[in-house]
Amino acid sequence: MKNKIIIAIDGHSSCGKSTVAKAIAKELGYIYIDSGAMYRAITLFAMRHKLIINNKVETKKLEELIDNIEISFKYNNGLLKYETYLNNENIETEIRKIDVSENVSYISELKFVRELLVKLQQDLGKNKGIVMDGRDIGTVVFPSAELKIFMTADSKIRAQRRYKELIEKGDNVNFEEILNNVEKRDYIDQNRKESPLKKAKDALLLDNSNLNHKEQLDWILKKIDSLV
Ligand code: C5P
Repeated sequence: MKNKIIIAIDGHSSCGKSTVAKAIAKELGYIYIDSGAMYRAITLFAMRHKLIINNKVETKKLEELIDNIEISFKYNNGLLKYETYLNNENIETEIRKIDVSENVSYISELKFVRELLVKLQQDLGKNKGIVMDGRDIGTVVFPSAELKIFMTADSKIRAQRRYKELIEKGDNVNFEEILNNVEKRDYIDQNRKESPLKKAKDALLLDNSNLNHKEQLDWILKKIDSLV
């Protein structure tokens, strides 16, 4: 494919969107942006400022402080991956922890948060040549993306994958807690008022319950080839 395109990957929590998105970006020499990391960064900021109490966000205070938040991605040459920064602090490890996952849906349903992040995401994609994953990339951020994929998998399989990942990192978590979190986030993401998670009409459905990484990558690369 000669002309650079935009590839939008949306779908349910923990179904491996970022793994496959990174692999495609590498294959095509494109930029990869993890939009979920941006919502996680704002969540961490809100938690540190004690703005989430009993599942409720102090929205007024967060709105007052939101201009003080700067989110960026920097390449880690040692780990060969992009990492998320909040006001120049590397927060990549912290935003993946379960307490951030527990709170992120309360932040991502806020209109002013979404407006800010969507603008940032659209800016990052203005030269195309980008793979972005999230929940509203094909529906709101890049509605005219050349390729849209909606990924999903059985929730128990997704929770098992996330559980394994966190245990390998040394986090002290149990399977039920992860499964509950995955299912709860799906529910909130699909039922919120602002940009709910849904498959764009023109998105291709990829259920990866029984597919390994290579099979998923090949499936998507074939679709890209068929666009030419
Ligand atoms: O992709 P990840 O699981 O890291 O995203 C964390 C959360 O951020 C999601 O559960 C969802 O609430 C929110 N999100 C969103 N829109 C996006 C990306 C993520 O609402 N484009």
